[in-house]
Amino acid sequence: MSLPISEHILALRPYQPGKPIDEVKRELGLTDVVKLASNENPLGPSPLAAEAIAACAHGVSIYPDGNAPALRAAVSELVSMPPNTLVFGNGSDEILHLLTMTFLQPGEETVQADPSFAMYEIYAAQANAKIHRVPLTHYTHNLEAMADAITPGTRLLFIANPNNPTGTLVTQAEVDRFMERVPPHVLVVFDEAYDEYVSHADKPDMRPYVRDDRNVIILRTFSKAYGLAGLRVGYGIAPPRIAELLNRVRSPFNVNLIGQAAAAAGVVDQEHIRRAVALNYEGRDYYYREFQRLGLEFIPSEANFVCVDVKRDSKEVFEALQRLGVIVRAGAGLGLPTHIRVTVGTMAQNERFIAALTAVLES
Ligand SMILES: *Cc1c(COP(=O)(O)O)cnc(C)c1O
Repeated sequence: MSLPISEHILALRPYQPGKPIDEVKRELGLTDVVKLASNENPLGPSPLAAEAIAACAHGVSIYPDGNAPALRAAVSELVSMPPNTLVFGNGSDEILHLLTMTFLQPGEETVQADPSFAMYEIYAAQANAKIHRVPLTHYTHNLEAMADAITPGTRLLFIANPNNPTGTLVTQAEVDRFMERVPPHVLVVFDEAYDEYVSHADKPDMRPYVRDDRNVIILRTFSKAYGLAGLRVGYGIAPPRIAELLNRVRSPFNVNLIGQAAAAAGVVDQEHIRRAVALNYEGRDYYYREFQRLGLEFIPSEANFVCVDVKRDSKEVFEALQRLGVIVRAGAGLGLPTHIRVTVGTMAQNERFIAALTAVLES
């Protein structure tokens, strides 16, 4: 008898990551390739984090402390929340996975925006849950419609703020109105992967909801502004009763020794974050000016990437840019068929992208 496999597993489609630089070099015979596809920090990690990584090298024969005490203390101070509200993961991706494992039974439901971050549906589908996708309005989460989509079977509701791929933000007033409508059988996942970049005056603070013991978890990551994507460290901030459940489900050594040390060192270097954010604003404004010059509409972004409407098949533009050595994300796979999503890089990388885009659109 052959191995029985569940229908919902056969139906899974793997996550499509941004193309790796080496793969593009090899496939296209290029030597100089710029990747602006995964919203990584073009400055790299803090030098303090890099030093911490080197200092760990000879200690890796020892298992990490699964409670991540040094990192926990550093983050607790950074976010002004007690240590027992924190849960650490192998990237915030893993926290998403812990959430679906902990709170979703087959047939139960999730609510998310469309398009939004792909992992919400990937983990929900793995859990054999029913996924409600609520279209964005004006490229922004429609929180009223998302509240309307809640049923007695809903367990998890995902809000990416700012949203990926659109870079749009929901404000404090919108979130407060929404939270009044969320019933107690729903856990709201507030994914703030791009928190450090947000400059909007009405940026919501979800910590009061955690302090009030509401069913809320805030997700943050060391992958974006902190420049540590390769080490996979993220965390959640939740009421202790929720953090404690996630801690029961996670594997005991989920955040590795080097990741813990690098992230803790990264927290210390807030000057590095300020530099990354300043560079991001400069690059974003440059993109906006250049898109205007090219007559292209773009979605104003609160994050470190911009979605721009190239008014053509995004896959063709993506491929043409790639032949010129610039990797971006095609909106086609993200529900935005004529947009591309481009990360803000160094000014030299940004100029390279704009030159390539200009050439592609002229051809
Ligand atoms: C990049 C990203 C994440 C995080 O990823 P990790 O590297 O797993 O921490 C989470 N949510 C969104 C919306 C992202 O764009």
